[in-house]
Amino acid sequence: MSRKKHCNIPIFIPELACSHQCVFCNQEKISNTFSVPTPNEIGQIIDRYLATISEGTEINIAFFGGSFTGIPREEMIHYLKVAHTYVKTGKVQGIRISTRPDYITNPILDILEQYGVTAIELGAQSTNDKVLVKSGRGHRFDAIENAAKLIRKRNFELGLQMMLGLPYDTLELSLQTARDIVRLKADTTRIYPTVVVKGTVLEKMYEKGEYQTLSMEDALSWSKEVLKIFNEAGVKVLRVGLHPSEELELGKSLVAGPIHPSFKEMVLSELWGDVFKDKQLHKGKSIIHVAKNQLNYAIGYKGKNRNALLTKGFDIKFVADENLKDFELDVCYN
Ligand code: SF4
Repeated sequence: MSRKKHCNIPIFIPELACSHQCVFCNQEKISNTFSVPTPNEIGQIIDRYLATISEGTEINIAFFGGSFTGIPREEMIHYLKVAHTYVKTGKVQGIRISTRPDYITNPILDILEQYGVTAIELGAQSTNDKVLVKSGRGHRFDAIENAAKLIRKRNFELGLQMMLGLPYDTLELSLQTARDIVRLKADTTRIYPTVVVKGTVLEKMYEKGEYQTLSMEDALSWSKEVLKIFNEAGVKVLRVGLHPSEELELGKSLVAGPIHPSFKEMVLSELWGDVFKDKQLHKGKSIIHVAKNQLNYAIGYKGKNRNALLTKGFDIKFVADENLKDFELDVCYN
């Protein structure tokens, strides 16, 4: 069965002169690096993307970067009007926006609804008040709860993004954040371990020894545990971990933190490692069937799971099976 392809047309709208000071954010860098696109430029960006996307793809325009609903109202409506023309002509199927929880009100949702927005992603980051305060977010959990409830009452897809390892965070608090995201009925989530970026409050805290990043080992194991909660609840995980980019590299913008090009693969590999630990496998030769999209993760990052099983006396061949999904597996013994 062939699955429909999805594609987002990303449009970065920096929220210049943001009045908040999240400890992990370097606003000065954002303001100096990015200019705010005009509605005209947005049309050009969308057209450029559309020319390269094959027919039959489900396309969304995604306004990301800052807090979309925090930009001046007139400007926001200008952007939405341009994007909406593409929805109305059927060239794109939806509009996604990301914003802060405390920038969601019913009048704002009225506007988003009017101009065809289909998905709203909130940077929840944590549901613990102390973590939110220590991270300089400028709002508490009740703002996340209120926004999620307002969004849920309407026909939007709700995304709640979380960060791991913020100041004062613990594994238990991160697990609670994941459970709260499930309870607030999010459709989607993103999981980002916190990294220290140059020019941020967090950098100063890190230099003074007041903040420590998660080790790579902890970042992987915390991500794995929250991922289990989301998988079990059917919350779609759109992203796990940060990738190094030209900018986000040690010695450039990145000061410290768990970042790896294969972060997601490593987390899923750990998760499959747990699946095999829980499963009573018989020693000797066997064939394990897993879903096609899970095959590499089941084998493990750099063959980690297969090698671990082999050293314990399990001689396993992994095979993709189109009839299985997610973390289902079938074991055949020879
Ligand atoms: S992350 Fe925080 S400080 Fe940075 S732009 Fe968003 S709200 Fe403002």
